[in-house]
Amino acid sequence: MPTALPRGCAEVSAVWRFLSRERTAGSGLRRVPGSADENPVLDEEERYAAKDLVEVYPQWDGQVVGRWNVGAGWALRRSVGEQVFWLNEGFKPKPKELAAGIPVLHNDAKGFLLCPTCGSILTQPPPQKDEKGGRRQPRTRSSGPDLYGHREGCARAGLPPLAQALVASNSAEVLRLIVPVPDEMDESAVNTWGYSLGYALLIGMQRLFVLDVSELEFELEGPWKLGTHRQVSLAFIDPSLGGTGYLRRIADEFHQVARIAIEHLDHLTARAPATAV
Ligand SMILES: [Zn+2]
Repeated sequence: MPTALPRGCAEVSAVWRFLSRERTAGSGLRRVPGSADENPVLDEEERYAAKDLVEVYPQWDGQVVGRWNVGAGWALRRSVGEQVFWLNEGFKPKPKELAAGIPVLHNDAKGFLLCPTCGSILTQPPPQKDEKGGRRQPRTRSSGPDLYGHREGCARAGLPPLAQALVASNSAEVLRLIVPVPDEMDESAVNTWGYSLGYALLIGMQRLFVLDVSELEFELEGPWKLGTHRQVSLAFIDPSLGGTGYLRRIADEFHQVARIAIEHLDHLTARAPATAV
């Protein structure tokens, strides 16, 4: 039976109104990458570029232990013991790297040249030119250090690297804010709106409970069709085994989280010209 949380209604709805207003004003909202006065801009961009390489796949297989209503049609649900996969396929290869024939996972991701046997980070030497000017693969040497960087005695010594993805999984605690979205809203607008609201709320959670950026993760799920409407889920993931207990407190104090999110957005708007928000 859902537990009403009337205190949260006005504040969460205000977040929605704020972002809707910004979007319709044509200011081009994008991901909100944290407070600009905490770190140099370059550091922020580098940190988020690397973090964005990791894709998160929550499996919706946990046990739901709490439900709350936050405003008309918005719902919060907290689950425990949910399996979450983190997938890192590396950076997108540059056109000249593809043209040079470097090993890649697929055309959109380079992967990592790790040896699954010895664990070394391998390298692919550049192809050598033969007498006719064509390319051929470098010849492996039978003695001396391995051409590709395998450890001594590795069963795959002398074998060229294959690109691999990195995968991790854990049993995590997940708090989802489930929100209906208008049918006429296209996918890029849903993404812009969802990421902006999600990161603003994440910052609200981090500030209210003085959390490090690594302690909670945010993932936008959907949109998907449910009955006559579409909905998205803003998933906040506590990746530590068994959970730290913060998500339950965040759900209880969601009105405070929304208040801080609004303050953060107001602060950004005040600091930046409208076209740069
Ligand atoms: Zn090896």
